[in-house]
Amino acid sequence: MNRPERFRPPSVDEILRSGEGALAITRHGRSETTQAVRQVLERMRQSETSHAASAHAIARMALDVLEERGRPSQRPVINLTGTVLHTNLGRALLAEEAVQAVVTAMRAPTNLEYEIEAGQRGERDAHVRGLIRELTGAEDAVLVNNNASAVLLVLNTLARDREAIVSRGELIEIGGAFRMPDIMGRAGAILREVGTTNRTHLKDYAEAIGPETGLLLKVHTSNYVVQGFTAEVEPAELAKLARTHDLPFVDDLGSGTLIDLARWGLRHEKTVQDALKGGADLVTFSGDKLLGGPQAGIVAGRKDLIARLAKNPLKRALRLDKLRLAALEATLRLYRDPDRLAERLPTLRLFTRKAAELRALAERLQPQMAAALGAGWTVETIDCASQIGSGALPLETLPSAGLAIAPAGKASGGAVEALAAAFRAVPVPVIGRIAQGALVLDLRCLEDEALFAAQLARLKPGGGDGLA
Ligand SMILES: *Cc1c(COP(=O)(O)O)cnc(C)c1O
Repeated sequence: MNRPERFRPPSVDEILRSGEGALAITRHGRSETTQAVRQVLERMRQSETSHAASAHAIARMALDVLEERGRPSQRPVINLTGTVLHTNLGRALLAEEAVQAVVTAMRAPTNLEYEIEAGQRGERDAHVRGLIRELTGAEDAVLVNNNASAVLLVLNTLARDREAIVSRGELIEIGGAFRMPDIMGRAGAILREVGTTNRTHLKDYAEAIGPETGLLLKVHTSNYVVQGFTAEVEPAELAKLARTHDLPFVDDLGSGTLIDLARWGLRHEKTVQDALKGGADLVTFSGDKLLGGPQAGIVAGRKDLIARLAKNPLKRALRLDKLRLAALEATLRLYRDPDRLAERLPTLRLFTRKAAELRALAERLQPQMAAALGAGWTVETIDCASQIGSGALPLETLPSAGLAIAPAGKASGGAVEALAAAFRAVPVPVIGRIAQGALVLDLRCLEDEALFAAQLARLKPGGGDGLA
C-alpha cells in the first residue's frame, strides 16, 4: 500500500517572513500569528491535501483564520426584514446627536452624579428628569434599564404582597419571554385577573378592589389586537375608580411616543402626555421603541410615587449607566424641535420614507441584483408593506418597496433558504425574509445604497437549481 507523500511544509519562520506573514504580524501580533500558522499547518498535515502549499499561501490561510477570529461578535447588519424596530436587530438607531453624546461621555469623567455648582453629590436621573417633565407634563420621572424593569420596579414598589388588578385581555406576552403574569410573580405582586379575554367592564375592576389591592394596571396590548365583540374600560374611568379608592393607576404604554405620529401621516398612537392627562398616576414606556433612543425604561408621573420608586433598592440594580443617560438626554432634546425631528431621528426618518422613493431605489438596484445573481434567479421589484415593530402600532403598515428573488426554473428544495444564507454571508450581512418561495428584501431601512451595491460582488449564490 502506498503511503501518502511525507508532508514537508515551509518552516514556520519562513511563513512568518513572507509578505502575508508580515502583514498578519502587523495586524494581529507575533504570538497570535505564530499560533494561527501552526493551526493551519496542523490542519494541512491531517487533511493530507495541500502538500505543495507555499509559505505565502499558508500565511494567507493563517491571516484568514486571524481575521475570522478577530471579527467582533456583535457587528452591523443591513435590516431588510421590513420591520423597522426589530428587537433581534437592536431596535432604534440613535440620532447623530445621541451618538456624539455617548462618545463624549465615554472619553471623560462626567458629572453623572455630581452637582457642579454646589460641588456636591447629585442624582444621575436628574440629567433627563427635567426634559421628561417638560415634554410630557409629568411631575417627575425615574429611569431604569428597560421597560420590563420599569414595570418590575413599579409592581415591586407599589404592589409587593398585594394585588395588582389587570384585565384578562391585557395579560400580554412580548417576544423574549416578557410575560406580564411572570413579571408580576417576580415582582412579588399577586395577579388579580378581571373580566374576560374580549370584554372587561368597570364593574369587574370595582368588584375586585379590596383591602389587598395595591394598584390598578392597564397594559398596552402592543403586539396584538382584540377585535369583534369587545369591551375595555377607558383609562379615564379606571383613573377615577382608582382615585375613589385611593389606589395608584398605572398605565404601561410599552412603546410610548412623545409626539402625535399623525403629524407624519402615521396612525395616532396614545402619547405619554395623553396617558397622563387621562389620569394615569404613573406611565411606563421604552427608550428604544417609538422614542428612538437607547434601551431604557422610563416611569413618569406623580412625584410622591416616583420618590417611592427611587428609594426601592431594586432601582439601584436596574439603573442606567452614563452612556445611555447621555444618549437619552440627547434624544429627548431633539423633541424640542418637532419640525426637524423626522430628519434627525433615524427611526422617524425610516417610518416616513415614501413608497415612491423606495420604489425608485428598488428599480435602481434590480438590474444590479439580476446581474450579480445570474440566469438562475429572477429578480423583481415589488410593492410591499413594512411594519413598525416592537409591538408599536401592530396594525399599522407602511407602504414600501423592495426586491423579490426566486429561482428561475424548477428549484430544488432549500434553494431560497440557501440564497438567504448567501446574503447573510457577505461582510455586512443582509437580513431579508422568505415569503411565498421568494427572498424578499424590503428596502425601507436601506440607507447605504453604495455599500449594498458593492457587496453584491461578494455574493456567492450558486444557481437557483441548488446552491453550493
Ligand atoms: C415592549 C413592551 C414592554 C417591554 O419593554 P422593554 O423596553 O422591551 O423591556 C413592556 N410592556 C409593553 C406593553 C411593551 O410593549
